[in-house]
Amino acid sequence: MFKEKSTNITWHKNLIKREDREKLLGQKGFVLWFTGLSGSGKSTIANQVAYNLHKIGKLTYILDGDNIRHGLNKNLGFSLKDRKENIRRISEVANLFCDAGLITITAFISPYRVDRDYCRSLVGSGRFVEIYVKASLSTCESRDPKNLYKKARAGEITDFTGVNAPYEEPAKPEITVDTDKYNVEESVNLVLTKLKELGYL
Ligand code: ADP
Repeated sequence: MFKEKSTNITWHKNLIKREDREKLLGQKGFVLWFTGLSGSGKSTIANQVAYNLHKIGKLTYILDGDNIRHGLNKNLGFSLKDRKENIRRISEVANLFCDAGLITITAFISPYRVDRDYCRSLVGSGRFVEIYVKASLSTCESRDPKNLYKKARAGEITDFTGVNAPYEEPAKPEITVDTDKYNVEESVNLVLTKLKELGYL
């Protein structure tokens, strides 16, 4: 995926371990990875899930598409290579936040299965929950909260997922939320209920 340039580096053993931080926080660190088309509802649901978790005393942090592209990943565009690097960096950050003991919530289209699986393997099983926010292209296009589909159809945006770039559906997501069928409140409740069933809450 990328060439390692650093040599002569050693991993420092820390005196404080993940379990110590988790004990202090009274929670387990894990990653909630939301994926889906633009306008499917990732940010809306992720935010509300974070809010509900915060209210019950859980420490959360959201890594959201546009926010990350304003800072850490502002040198990246939407070519295949840049999208891969975008998700690789986000995965590394999510893994660090998870190791810090936070419930780390990501909301990125993340259209390629191999990139999402990279994060899954980095974070490890038992700490990675893939949430497929499913909605038909026509639903997403009719919502078009940021007018991006309109721009893509007008040819102002190239490589737009669902229009002229692919989206690979998750093969085995831990949770699927169909926002064609469920409203925001129902979708959020479904995620929270599933997290309880899976033993995360
Ligand atoms: P994404 O982050 O996937 O690009 P957003 O959350 O930014 O999507 O936008 C989704 C839009 O769809 C919002 O305007 C939201 O209010 C609306 N919406 C309608 N129904 C739902 C639902 N069931 N879940 C989430 N969002 C919904």
